[in-house]
Amino acid sequence: MPFLVRNLILSPEEDESLLSGLVQRRFGLRAQDVVSCRLVRKSIDARRKPRVKFICTVECRLTDEAGFLARFGTDPDVQPVVEPSPPTFPTLRPEPGIVIVGMGPAGLFTALRLAEYGLVATLVERGQPVERRTRDVELFWRSGALDPESNVQFGEGGAGTFSDGKLTTRVNDRNITYILERLVTFGAPVEILYQAKPHIGTDRLRRVVAGIRQWLLDAGFEIRFACRASDILVREGQVAGVVLNDHDELSCSRLVLAPGHSARDTYRLLAERGVFLEAKPFAIGARIEHPQELINRIQYGKGFHPALPPAEYALAYNDRQRGRSAYSFCMCPGGVVVAGSSEQGGVVTNGMSAYRRDATHANSALVVNVGPADFADPSPLAGIAFQQLWERRAFAAGGGDYRAPAQNLLAFLGQRGGGLTSSYRPGVRETDLATVLPAGVTETLRAGIHHFEGKMRGFITAEATLTGVETRTSAPVRIVRGDDFQSVTLRGLYPAGEGAGYAGGIMSAALDGIRVADALAQQLSKQQGAC
Ligand code: FAD
Repeated sequence: MPFLVRNLILSPEEDESLLSGLVQRRFGLRAQDVVSCRLVRKSIDARRKPRVKFICTVECRLTDEAGFLARFGTDPDVQPVVEPSPPTFPTLRPEPGIVIVGMGPAGLFTALRLAEYGLVATLVERGQPVERRTRDVELFWRSGALDPESNVQFGEGGAGTFSDGKLTTRVNDRNITYILERLVTFGAPVEILYQAKPHIGTDRLRRVVAGIRQWLLDAGFEIRFACRASDILVREGQVAGVVLNDHDELSCSRLVLAPGHSARDTYRLLAERGVFLEAKPFAIGARIEHPQELINRIQYGKGFHPALPPAEYALAYNDRQRGRSAYSFCMCPGGVVVAGSSEQGGVVTNGMSAYRRDATHANSALVVNVGPADFADPSPLAGIAFQQLWERRAFAAGGGDYRAPAQNLLAFLGQRGGGLTSSYRPGVRETDLATVLPAGVTETLRAGIHHFEGKMRGFITAEATLTGVETRTSAPVRIVRGDDFQSVTLRGLYPAGEGAGYAGGIMSAALDGIRVADALAQQLSKQQGAC
């Protein structure tokens, strides 16, 4: 039985090939006693700055495991590994009539998981394949020419394609390893399997997405790009098909709907068809940018080792007085702020990094929670109208050409400010950000930033710039589903992922897609068994 050894320390300049030797020295073993030694976890410990170190866990196999465990089994850093049995997937009979709308992480992992059961489906994506989409997005960032169907939110790979590709989630689920391993087979860096905070980077992620597409095509899936699900056909309370681009009909009895949080027209269509929806809370704010060097110094201490990766941070503040919270979100070390609009006349910020995270600035969204009490009316779609209001104000403040409003951090805090340094393209225009954010959000944001300075000395600096507005943090609507993963009002409709309101982030959206696929396969299996 293999076992884990925890708390092995590497300094920044030491590499992982030394770990087997560390295990040997610690337990008095010879090199030939160790059959294998595999790194399974690596995290940074920056508590004693600037002496930052890596803490590693390895999985070992020895020639005499029983003898080793008899001697060291009570060591708190040693733990036998009970290997979980690999998941098994009953092969189901081919089933026509499964359609998946959306090729973000939720839709793609629904498809990959269905394939485990021997099933195939038709994938319908409103945007373009990732290669063409990348060109469309570049054109928008260069010139402000927005394609509402091919942008940072819409297109193959989904919303996270132009991102840092962080693969962290607070959800604990055995399928996390399944997802990471699948991503590695499609070209993701192998270290995502052991890093405590894995990330792929937008450059590698685009290649992974293209790899998944090819695999699905080879497995017999049909993929239709530039195809927007514009209506749902219903017969006797059950999904009967989907209308594409307002004219083509595609029959189906099971419709997995994974449209992401920005498919506002899709939410409206569901509301018109009487699908039960709920307004849900999300968060809004602005992107902050600091020189990465400054964040490194704050997090690692002066004189930190140059081999350390660009530093990250995660900050939170509970504003009891106003009943809100401010927190950092989607932090991108060594990245850029991106224009994430998907609708004409609205400015939306977000962030992305390449795999190497080697841009000069760190960015992060600083956001404050908002909810139905902030919205203009009690309708399920009121959160969308709320987002649109602030996106349009930001558009107008930026000059009406997709430049974004921006402000030096000190000026935002009412102090004498410095200049603007924003990586956002197509550009920024100096603006009082309080005019493009709700008053309650601005107040909590300011209080939060003062609190963050207490956690990270130097966070408040004339070198920091805020660019807004950040509104697409999570879905403003939930497409309510039951325990069977189907809409509570429409049989055969399987809402999935972030747009359905059941996930937030790449990993949790992929996990949700897997859950939906497993539920669908289980229902099908019962049905086929009954035939
Ligand atoms: P999406 O990824 O949004 O995919 C939905 C897909 O459905 C889209 O491709 C869309 O074009 C398509 N679609 C929508 N409506 C229709 C329709 N009617 N017909 C056909 N197709 C339709 N998360 C992280 O965990 N880590 C990060 O580093 C990270 N960075 C991000 C950076 C940016 C710039 C953005 C925008 C998001 C980032 N996120 C990140 C969030 C993450 O991308 C989302 O949580 C995740 O992509 C949600 O997955 P999903 O499959 O549910 O939806």
